[in-house]
Amino acid sequence: MAEEIRVRFAPSPTGFLHIGGARTALFNWLYARNAKGTFILRIEDTDRTRSTDEYIDAIIEGMKWLGLDWDEGPFRQTDRFDVYRSYADKLLKEGKAYYCYCSAEELEARRKVAMAQGKSLKYDGRCRDLKEPVPGVTPAVRFRMPQQGQTVVEDLIRGNVVFENEQLDDLIILRSDGTPTYNLTVVVDDVDMRITHVIRGDDHLNNTPKQIQLYQAFGYAVPKFAHLPMILGADKTRLSKRHGATSVMAYYEMGYLPEALVNYLVRLGWSYGDQEVFTRDELIRYFSFENVGKAAAVFNPEKLLWLNSQYIMGTAPEKLAELVRPFLVKEQIITEDQPLDPAWLARAVQTLQERAKTLVELAASLRYYVAEDIIFNEKAKEKFLNEKSRDLLKELKDGVSALSEFSSPELEMLFKAIVEKHGVKLGVLAQPVRVAMTGGTESPGIYEVLEVLGKEKVLRRLEKAISLTG
Ligand code: GLU
Repeated sequence: MAEEIRVRFAPSPTGFLHIGGARTALFNWLYARNAKGTFILRIEDTDRTRSTDEYIDAIIEGMKWLGLDWDEGPFRQTDRFDVYRSYADKLLKEGKAYYCYCSAEELEARRKVAMAQGKSLKYDGRCRDLKEPVPGVTPAVRFRMPQQGQTVVEDLIRGNVVFENEQLDDLIILRSDGTPTYNLTVVVDDVDMRITHVIRGDDHLNNTPKQIQLYQAFGYAVPKFAHLPMILGADKTRLSKRHGATSVMAYYEMGYLPEALVNYLVRLGWSYGDQEVFTRDELIRYFSFENVGKAAAVFNPEKLLWLNSQYIMGTAPEKLAELVRPFLVKEQIITEDQPLDPAWLARAVQTLQERAKTLVELAASLRYYVAEDIIFNEKAKEKFLNEKSRDLLKELKDGVSALSEFSSPELEMLFKAIVEKHGVKLGVLAQPVRVAMTGGTESPGIYEVLEVLGKEKVLRRLEKAISLTG
C-alpha cells in the first residue's frame, strides 16, 4: 500500500489569517485532497505574549470561509509542553543536547563584540563541554549541532538546497523558563503527527537544516519539504498592509466569493497551462508541486477583482441572492429581520450579476429594487424628469394601469406604441423611466427592471416622477 500522505497547516495565532497563510493552507489542503491524504490543523501558540484566542478563532473562521476543512485538530502546542520536554530530556540523556548557563545579557554582550570584530554571530559553544553545573543559575537547553559536513534540504520545489553545518547554531530548544522553542516544537509535532510533507512559506527555509538535524537526532525519517515562493506586492517588496487588504476576512467584507479567492491564491505560485478559472474539483485533480514555480509571485488586486466578477457571473442567482442578503443589511438597505422573497431577490440579482464585480457592488445596485425610497442622481433628475417627459410618463402610467399582464413583452409593446405615437426615439421615454425607477441613468434593460419591480412599485414610482416634472 502506498504511504498515507499527511500534511499540516501550522499557523501562529499572532494575527488574522492573511493572504500568505491562506495560500500555505490551501496548498496543503489541495495536496492532501489530491492524494486522498490527511490534512491537519495545528495552532502554534507557544509564544504566549503574542498569541490570542481571538486570532485562533479568526484563523478558523477564515479557513472555514475558504472551505479548507481539516481532518485532524485543531491541536494546540500549549497543550503539549510535557511532550516537548520529554523529547528534550531524551536528547539531554543521549548527550545530543546540553545545558547552557549563559544569561541573555552575556550572550548579547558577546554578540556585540563578535559583530564589531566582523566574526560569526553564532553561539560560541562555551557551555558545550561543561562538566559541572553553574550554581544558582537555571539553564536553558541547547541542541548540539554537528559542526562538520553539510545538511541537504531536498525540496520538491527548489531541488536540493545545501547548507554548511558550520553555519548552523547550537540552537536553544528549551528556554531557561522551561518553555520550548519553535524548532523543537515543530519537529516533535511533525514526528508525533506522522507528517510526511512539510509545505510552508520559504521564509522557513533557513530553519529547515536545523530541523533536519533534530529529526536525525531523534532517529526519525525526515519528511519531504516544499517551500512556497514568497508573495510580493506590485512594487516587488514583500506583501504587507501597504499593498492593501491582506487579511482573508477583509475580502469577505469587501464582497469577494471564497471560490474566487481560492482560485486566485492557487495561481500565486501554481499554474496549469494558461487556464485561469478552475473549479475546486479541477484544482484537486490537477494540483502537483511540479507546477509550482520557484519565482516569487506578485499579488495583483485587479486580477483578483476580475476573477471575482467571473465567479459572480457564474454563480446561480438563487445562491447569490442568499450570499448578498447580509450585505443588504450591512448597507442598510434592509433590516436584519426584513423578509424578502428569495425567488424574487434571485430574479433581481439575475438582472445585475453581469455587472457587479463584488457582493458589495451587487447589494448597492439592488437598492432600487429593494428599498421603498430611491435616491435620485440630481443631474439625471433635472435632465430627464421635466416638462419634456411629463406627458410621456403620464401616458405610460395610464398604459401600465390598464395592462392585464405585467411582463417584459407586454411592457415592450406598450413603450413602442407610445413612442411611435409621439414620433420620438425609444430613449426619449426609456431614459426618464430609468431615472424614475432607479434614480440614475444606468441599469439593466428597462423592461426587465420594470418586471422585477412589479406593477405596484412601478406605478408608485411613475407617480412620484410625474410629480417631480414640475
Ligand atoms: N508556525 C509557523 C508560522 O506560522 C509555521 C511553521 C511551519 O509551518 O513549520 O510561520
